[in-house]
Amino acid sequence: MNSNSTTCGTLSWSFCPPNKLSTRKATVSIIRAVNDISNESVETADAVVCGGGPAGLLTAIMLAEKLPPSQKIRLYDRLSAPPDADDDRIWDNDVARFYLIGLGGRGQSALQEFGAWEGVVKDRCVSVVGRRDWQPGDLEGTERIFTEAEKRVPTEVLARDKLVGVLHQHILDKYNGRIELNYGFEVHPIDFSHENGKSVLVEIAQCTSELGRLNPSEVKTSVENQEEILCSTEDTKLLKVNGLLVAADGTVRTVANAMEREDRKRFDSLNPIQKVFAPKPFRVKRYDDDNQRVYKSFPIDVPKDWRFDLNYSARAKRATFDALPANRKGNYCGLLLLKKDDPLAVENNDPNELRAMMDNSFPFFSKLIDDDTMATVAKKPVSYLPSFRYAGPRLHQGNNCVMLGDCVHTVKPYFGLGANSALEDVRILGQAIDKHKDENGEIDTTKVVREFSKRRAKDSKALVRVSRDLDRPGKLGVFTFLIPIILDSIFSKFLPAIFTPNIINMLQREGWTFSGVARRKRLERVLQAAMLASGFYLVGRVATRAALWTVAKVFALCQRSVAARYAIPAAALSCVATFLASRSNKTRELSKDLPAVADVISKFSKKSEEKQVAKK
Ligand SMILES: Cc1cc2nc3c(=O)[nH]c(=O)nc-3n(C[C@H](O)[C@H](O)[C@H](O)COP(=O)(O)OP(=O)(O)OC[C@H]3O[C@@H](n4cnc5c(N)ncnc54)[C@H](O)[C@@H]3O)c2cc1C
Repeated sequence: MNSNSTTCGTLSWSFCPPNKLSTRKATVSIIRAVNDISNESVETADAVVCGGGPAGLLTAIMLAEKLPPSQKIRLYDRLSAPPDADDDRIWDNDVARFYLIGLGGRGQSALQEFGAWEGVVKDRCVSVVGRRDWQPGDLEGTERIFTEAEKRVPTEVLARDKLVGVLHQHILDKYNGRIELNYGFEVHPIDFSHENGKSVLVEIAQCTSELGRLNPSEVKTSVENQEEILCSTEDTKLLKVNGLLVAADGTVRTVANAMEREDRKRFDSLNPIQKVFAPKPFRVKRYDDDNQRVYKSFPIDVPKDWRFDLNYSARAKRATFDALPANRKGNYCGLLLLKKDDPLAVENNDPNELRAMMDNSFPFFSKLIDDDTMATVAKKPVSYLPSFRYAGPRLHQGNNCVMLGDCVHTVKPYFGLGANSALEDVRILGQAIDKHKDENGEIDTTKVVREFSKRRAKDSKALVRVSRDLDRPGKLGVFTFLIPIILDSIFSKFLPAIFTPNIINMLQREGWTFSGVARRKRLERVLQAAMLASGFYLVGRVATRAALWTVAKVFALCQRSVAARYAIPAAALSCVATFLASRSNKTRELSKDLPAVADVISKFSKKSEEKQVAKK
């Protein structure tokens, strides 16, 4: 049960043909009841990590640093071992095969803290120092290099699977024997409070070799609803975890789903009065995706006169196109994001139609794509972006199980926060372990899991809710995204001591918690509304006074320059103006200390009559 035992090892990765999960019938596991397993032999483990994505692998490294040296860490992933991060045949042959992620300050700090950053950044990432954006109809694009104030830490871009490959290699090099890596095995929780809450019992099921051969990108791209169990229960074993069980199983959420089922059952068994006083059951908040986009990825070689370290991004009415550098040689991976009901958002679409759409919407990218590539992309199935989800109100179950990463907070990748926040979770779990460790290095798992929930549950919820507000469709998006961004940019420019930069920028700042950002922005909105209301009130008052003053002056002028016979039409005109000005109560109220327009008219008419009489 280690990485060597996988059917498709790291070296032979590139020769493993990708299978399509959607065309394969999944074997659904039936989780057994605890009393069914009393006679089976049970292995024991000190600590188990479920999931070998970025969060799971970094958790294993963190645990190896924090737990007493006698304790071993086992990691299980249902897929095969990741590809070799240094095998350029894998990464350069088809740069659109693996999606790219940008690591910002939050992710970089977490990797640094556990000694894994050097390996990630060394020749394996591309620093993105700015962007070039095309608005609809624009053919030139606008280039912007980030200032230090805008981006304190440059984003480092690499394929998600390459990051996983680097962390995997780091474990083999540095923690061999301490961390046991098991690929092709799926974890199913069975009892979260085993032996009166002293341990957690899980079942380990061996996956089919077919599933084990898939790489995570392919699973993500081919399964829309990943919340299903795919491995067989015919070849299983039971494992009792005496220390921590850390669930980092991403959007599959095997552990969170089991927790939700257990809590719901417990809650439903309570009477109505007990329900009022009982703690809220654990649940996964699943938002309906009302702004769903799917994508197809394109390999692109940018021309020599384009920079190789920018994020290229274009918007059109029908779609958006976003490209990140896959390496430092100018090979980019571009994502064409389409609405789910777009006729091109299907497998096997017509390459000519795809070309026509690209020519029409993104001619500057279309000319970089040859016909063969266009045909290959047209043939591909679409890939799905994750939907917004968060788990809560706590992130633990019993005394041993805690969860982190995408399984507790799933966001769309528009703001580059998924992997970054997942890696930051690991850092916070590490801090909780430090806090509840005794002098012999033994940790109090009960306190650790509770501490982690306390520190991270609100943040997970805030991250998902704030990110979702930035992705609302149509007019709603104008209020939840556009107006706040415009207001923030104006207010923070003129009053930087009071107002922080826009929320997207703030979410990237590692010194800020996500719930802290949400709170701060709520406060700023109230202040902005108060300032705008006072501003409008003052402007309204001044404008009313100015209007009345102008009317008075116009009459005075008429009076002096035009004969008295014009007084009546002028009075009529002023009446209309007065009527318009006095339509609102506010205007009437504001003008009460000014001379009435009628008085002004009669005064001037009287004066004019007197003058005319005198002249005669
Ligand atoms: C197109 C795209 C672009 C993105 N861009 C960015 C970006 O720029 N910046 C950013 O920060 N994030 C980005 N993300 C998000 C990022 O990829 C995820 O947030 C990140 O991978 C989450 O890591 P994780 O370890 O929590 O989960 P995952 O990466 O999903 O890993 C979970 C692992 O658990 C395994 N697993 C699942 N269930 C079980 C089980 N029962 N037993 C054993 N193993 C199991 C899975 O096989 C998988 O390997 C992007 C995502 C997409 C789709």
